[in-house]
Amino acid sequence: MADSYDAIVIGTGQAGPPLAVRLAGAGMKVAVIERGLFGGTCVNTGCIPTKTMVASAYAARIAQRAADFGVRIDGHVNVDMKRVKARKDEISGKSRSGVESWLENTPNCTVVRGHARFESAREVGVGGTRLIAEKIFINVGGRARVPEMPGLDQVSHLNNSSMMHVDFLPRHLLVVGGSYIGLEFAQMFRRFGSEVTVVEMSSRLVSREDEDVSAAVKEIFENEGVDVHLDSKCITVGKNGGEIMATLDCENGPREVSGSHLLLAVGRRPNTDDLGLDKAGVTQDTHEFIVVDDELRTNVPGIWALGDCNGRGAFTHTSYNDYEIVAANLLDHDHRRVSDRVPAHALYIDPPLGRAGMTDAEVRTSGRRAMVGKRPMTRVSRAVEKGETQGFMKVVVDADSKMILGAAILGPGGDEAIHCIVDVMSAKAPYPVLQRTMHIHPTVAELIPTVLGELKEL
Ligand SMILES: Cc1cc2nc3c(=O)[nH]c(=O)nc-3n(C[C@H](O)[C@H](O)[C@H](O)COP(=O)(O)OP(=O)(O)OC[C@H]3O[C@@H](n4cnc5c(N)ncnc54)[C@H](O)[C@@H]3O)c2cc1C
Repeated sequence: MADSYDAIVIGTGQAGPPLAVRLAGAGMKVAVIERGLFGGTCVNTGCIPTKTMVASAYAARIAQRAADFGVRIDGHVNVDMKRVKARKDEISGKSRSGVESWLENTPNCTVVRGHARFESAREVGVGGTRLIAEKIFINVGGRARVPEMPGLDQVSHLNNSSMMHVDFLPRHLLVVGGSYIGLEFAQMFRRFGSEVTVVEMSSRLVSREDEDVSAAVKEIFENEGVDVHLDSKCITVGKNGGEIMATLDCENGPREVSGSHLLLAVGRRPNTDDLGLDKAGVTQDTHEFIVVDDELRTNVPGIWALGDCNGRGAFTHTSYNDYEIVAANLLDHDHRRVSDRVPAHALYIDPPLGRAGMTDAEVRTSGRRAMVGKRPMTRVSRAVEKGETQGFMKVVVDADSKMILGAAILGPGGDEAIHCIVDVMSAKAPYPVLQRTMHIHPTVAELIPTVLGELKEL
């Protein structure tokens, strides 16, 4: 006998819990299935713990630079890694138990623990239990991808999950992958006191961003003593005594780096490989992401996919927005779509990068006539006052429609200031609206209207 529900939610990432609570509040009988830690990646091994550690690293950096601000610290600045981890565990743990008790205490909502697999389009198995429902919502997220790298079976390596257990200072952290996740860990451990080497396959760091962003990020890292190796086309790893060795190139002659610990940060894969999707008839793409339409419906009526597993976003805010879209369409008769949202994300190095809309390369490919305004942080008074003048801000607009096409703010508070741009883009207002808005002094965001008054052809 199967337990019958109106809706089943698989996974408690950033979309599943709020959706389950909304559906239960609407009077549906809901089951939520979780096989691991409640709250998923963001809460346990992603955003929350890493940003907590980034905050510790920032404190270390400011302490190391205290003399620049006229503050004397007598004696050496030390980082207590056990305390860094304990602080991270406490903040992440509160968030995890908050999600768990929220679901446990929601009327009409049953929490089921274990690994879920589809038995058919309406039936899910969890251990010996079978659950059926007319509506099933998949929010299974993703995990670190393990690359095919010669020698990897010979050396132990870390990923974003196992990094969460590190309560010591690695002597020399070797980071393979110079993109969002790898760079956040690289900079924080450098600031904690490790030697850090970053190895990246492509010819620049964060290669999905514009070239000027990549170049500025590389400069920031090198200024802090991170050793950056680009164009590492075919990496092999091995051991030499207690040391982990990596050979980086097979085209332009051997290059070799070494370290005490190896962190792999080369991308993520969706948790769709052991979900029984074939039994439900749900279609996946060539990268194993679940194929969804603009309202996050799969090809099987009654089954939706939300969050990282649908390949339409890779962030907490995209997953949460997926929940809002599905709930609005199902419960509010409010027709919301994925294509309505303005793409936006941040890179939490210091200074942070806030990004909205298209890159310069995407604008050029689109064939539009475009204008760009740009200003270095050395000419932003708040950045100068804070002694944090690395980076720049840049806004690209359509020369004909006057709509904002994209922006990058790499500088103090860039992750916050970018929302001026996101909101104007979302409101579909032309850039002169923002240009004529009075901003508060002294802030980084106050220079956005100025930048919009200094546009040049892209
Ligand atoms: C190191 C790191 C830092 C990050 N930093 C940021 C950031 O600063 N900002 C940001 O926006 N994003 C960040 N992200 C991305 C962000 O964490 C994810 O996009 C976000 O968690 C959304 O995930 P999700 O809702 O798709 O599912 P997830 O959070 O991955 O949760 C999926 C859940 O489903 C469960 N599950 C999986 N399969 C099954 C199954 N078969 N049965 C039962 N349960 C199952 C899992 O145990 C998990 O709890 C970061 C990611 C990483 C790795």
